[in-house]
Amino acid sequence: MRTLEVNDIVVHYGLVEALHGVSFKVDAGRIVALIGSNGAGKSTTLKALMGLKKLTSGSLVLDGERMDTSNAAQRVSMGIALSPEGRRLFPRMSVWENLMVGAHTVRSSEQKKKSLERVYELFPRVQERRQQMAGSLSGGEQQMVAIGRAMMSSPQILMLDEPSLGIAPKIVSEIAQAIQRLNRETGTSVILVEQNARLALKMSDHAYVFEQGLVIRSGSGQELLNDSFVQKAFLGI
Ligand code: ATP
Repeated sequence: MRTLEVNDIVVHYGLVEALHGVSFKVDAGRIVALIGSNGAGKSTTLKALMGLKKLTSGSLVLDGERMDTSNAAQRVSMGIALSPEGRRLFPRMSVWENLMVGAHTVRSSEQKKKSLERVYELFPRVQERRQQMAGSLSGGEQQMVAIGRAMMSSPQILMLDEPSLGIAPKIVSEIAQAIQRLNRETGTSVILVEQNARLALKMSDHAYVFEQGLVIRSGSGQELLNDSFVQKAFLGI
């Protein structure tokens, strides 16, 4: 089980400072939501956690050990995986081949088989379509494949960037249920970045509100659903 601490991280794009000192914690086995408007720094935070963006300062601590000096491949081995915004599938490769991309660091074929079974169990539609080209699937099905690909390394911390974006409501709820089931049955921690704040807060144990590169509020999902600032800013109440 993995506990992750994000301590005062600062991240730049060139000269522009995108994160100004972000801190939060992900306890093992929890679903943690990061919400906030466009450009608030949520995706940048996930990229920094995955090792795709360097920290200017601050630290990332996994089970008491610094991980911010390791690269993305090493972080996959440490149990971290990201399903990126926009899915980033290979459209002309089959669904199965796309899933296997997520398993390239896994040596044991037994382990690969287990992960694949897990993906198919959570997303039966993905199994049905495993031989189809990924680009021929609906947006929601592609999102399932993207999450499945991230699951193929059997992560202990699964990070999802905007899984509901542009997807039909019925499929959004299927995906949400699959994520909750994965968390409940395997204890996988989930870091969920979502524009759909209501959904994210309902699903999460704990949530952090981002604004302009800072965390400005935090609490349990339920607390934030009842918070008048959050209601006005993100829930349209
Ligand atoms: P969104 O939901 O729109 O992705 P976000 O909360 O995830 O929003 P980020 O994408 O992390 O926000 O963006 C944080 C800040 O960093 C913004 O000011 C954005 O313009 C800037 N930024 C993001 N990516 C780049 C990039 N590749 N080059 C330069 N600036 C960037």
